[in-house]
Parts: sequence; structure tokens; C-alpha cells
Amino acid sequence: MEIAGVDAAVVAEVEREASELLSRLIRIDTSNPPGNETAVAEFMRAWFHEAGLEGEILGEPADRRSFVLRLDGQRPGPSLLLLAHEDVVPANAADWQVPPFSGLIRDGYVWGRGAVDVKNLVAAHAVAVRRLAASGADFAGTVTYACTADEEEGAVGGARWLVEHRPDLMRCDYVINEGGGFLEHGRRRIYLLESGEKGTAQFRLVVHGEAGHASVPLRRGNAVLAAARIVEALVAHELPVVVDDSSRELVELLVDDPDLRLRLRDPAAARAALAELAARDARLADMIEPLYGFAFSPTIVQSNSVAVNVYPSRVDLSIDCRMLAGHDEAEVEAEVRSALAGIDAEWELEWIGVIRGNASELPTPLSQAIRTVLDRLVPGAVLANSHSVGFTDSNWFRAAYPETVAYNFAPYVVDGYNEVTVRYHNVDERIHVRDLTVQALFAERLALELLR
Ligand SMILES: [Zn+2]
Repeated sequence: MEIAGVDAAVVAEVEREASELLSRLIRIDTSNPPGNETAVAEFMRAWFHEAGLEGEILGEPADRRSFVLRLDGQRPGPSLLLLAHEDVVPANAADWQVPPFSGLIRDGYVWGRGAVDVKNLVAAHAVAVRRLAASGADFAGTVTYACTADEEEGAVGGARWLVEHRPDLMRCDYVINEGGGFLEHGRRRIYLLESGEKGTAQFRLVVHGEAGHASVPLRRGNAVLAAARIVEALVAHELPVVVDDSSRELVELLVDDPDLRLRLRDPAAARAALAELAARDARLADMIEPLYGFAFSPTIVQSNSVAVNVYPSRVDLSIDCRMLAGHDEAEVEAEVRSALAGIDAEWELEWIGVIRGNASELPTPLSQAIRTVLDRLVPGAVLANSHSVGFTDSNWFRAAYPETVAYNFAPYVVDGYNEVTVRYHNVDERIHVRDLTVQALFAERLALELLR
């Protein structure tokens, strides 16, 4: 296995160390819920302790803790945090080709839940930090390693807790966190640097109706019918299109047709242009469309009737909705009201969860360093700015420490963005050992480049 500009013996050593560590991490089942991430925190503490490095186990409750370790350079300078979460989503073993918590290494891949989301980075960052310490390399400032609990659900005990309770450890100039990947386009390889992410504005529409015995026709006031009308109207409602920095570079680099590209940049024409893009390249449209604003996705319908012969007095509709950075829930509510104006239904809106999206500026010394190191490892790679459409822990850092620059970025060289993202939260999650190795080497080199 070869990696540009890296000695073969170093590649082999990093590959062995990182894949063994990842395999052992996968075997610690941190399915969230319930999480039990403290097991990973303790494992990582022992792993670093073996190398003479001491970190801290932090957070609450006792079974949901994170691990943080600081490595100081020889001179004062900026601080870089390498962040990854310990928890994974549950896995149904019956659907997998291999047991999901086996950490099996087969056909060049490390297999198991968390292989790409995101125990790969728990391992890759750890190997990078241990190598930095062992080499005695000269760098300025501080590298902080953190693997945190509770990212996939709830986000109470992990990164959010640390940011709030331990600013002495967590406040830093730069954060690197999960995300990114590459797309093959023509002869170019385009890497995504995610400088921001969407927020969530999940809500419930409580639909009221008339209770009664179902044997009697209810001509008006059936909450189930009203809920059906609401769902139809929400989904049919044309939402405003936002064309901003989160999609601009992707459209420039990935849409070849100049006319279509032009229309995708025009908010008035973009909706139709997106439909046209979807007909030509569904995957590309799936990637770009969420960056054009919010969408209403109804996911749960629940009536309070417990018997088939009783009309409910209430139906709850739960709707998932994601907002771009810089937008807020008031805009979402205004669109709900406009979509449902004139609909024959009695309803009220309750927020389930609201977290505003946010973004870091670009370019910065961190984006420059990413570009430099990436270009050495993957000559000719193009780096493009985008935003992550899902939520990550970077959000807590940007919200709590406005001066912190947080990017989501992890390079792959074998498997592209489309191959990797389908493995998230899915069966047969796995990572190519070469991708894992590049991620470890990248983190080590990024620290050295940024903290020169
Ligand atoms: Zn994740």
C-alpha cells in the first residue's frame, strides 16, 4: 500500500496500529441508547497510559463519560482539538454480513458499527497524537484529543457538557471533527470541507378533533382527516430557496451544464433546476438540495384513540425539519402557517427540538493547513467548501466559543463520499484500512503544519 510522500514503513506501522485500535474499539458496544461510552473512555485512557500519556475521564452520568487528553508543544501557539464521538447507532445483527460488534478485519476493511461513524476517527486521532508525542516533534501550542459521549441521541452528557463545564480544556482556536469525503468528478477528486452545518427545528402539530363512537358518521371534526389534510398541504407547500456559500462551490465544481448551473444560482429558478438536476443525477441532487433551505419531513402520526371504534380527540404529527446556518425557527413557523392557511383543521404547533445551525469563517489558517496537507497526501485534490446537512458536535463549539473555527473533515482515498455516506447508520458499515491510515497520517501532519 502506497500513500504519496509517506515512507512505506511508516504507512505499514500506522496501518497496523490504527486498524488494531479501531477493531478493539468496535468490539466495545456503545450503541446509543443506552451508550455506555465510559467503557471507551476507560479503554482510551489505558491505551494512552501505555504510551506514557495521561488524560482525564469527564462528564456525567457515570456510565456516559468522555476522555480528553492534552499534548502541549514546546512553544506557545494556537490550539487544535481533534474531536470524535464514542457512541454509535444500534445495529441489528441479523441484517449484517458480519457480526456488527466483531471489529473483523477482512478483504482490506475493518468491519463493524462505528467503522465510519465515527470510531475510525477516535482511533485515527489517537494514533496521530501518540505518534506526535513519541516522535518528540517540535510544534507550538497544544493538541487536544477528545472522544466524547452522546452525539447520536440527546447530546446532553458529551461534547455539549464539556464545552459548558470545562472551557479550560475545551476552548480552543481550531476544531477538526467528523465529516467530509471526496467525490470523483471527471478527472478531478473533490474533497468536501464542511465549514458549517444545518440546525434542527423539529416540531409537532397537535391536531384537535371531536371524540365519539366511530359507528356514527362524523361529518366534521375528525382529527385523522384533518391531520391528513395537514400532511398533504405541508408536503405540497413550496418553500423558499436559499442560495448561499454552503452550496455555491459544489454547484460550480460539480454541475457541468453552464445553463443549469446559472439557474441553480437563481433562487427564483432553483426549484425547477433542482428537479432537472435530480432527473439527470439523483445522487448529486440529493447532496445539493438540502443546502437550499429547509424541508418538512413528516415522520410520526399518533392518535390518542386506543380503540378502533373510537374517534380520537387528538392526533400528533411529528415533523423533522432542518434549517441552514443563519436561519431560525421563526421562519419555519411562518412557513408552516402559510402552508396551512385555509386548511380545514384545528391545530397548534409545539417545538420538539430546536438547535440553530452555525458555520465558521473561511478561509482561515486551518483551511490553509488542510489544503496543504491534503495536497501532499493526495496530489491534485480539489478542496471545496460545503456544509454538513446533519448535526454534529462542532455546533456546540461554534455556539459556545464564537472565536473557535470548527470544520468537519476527514480524508478518504479509496472509497468516495457516496460509498461512505450510505454506510452511515446502515448495515455492513466498514472502512478500508488505507482510508483509516490516511486519516491518522492526515491528523498528525495537520497538527504539525498548523502548529509550526
Ligand atoms: Zn457521527
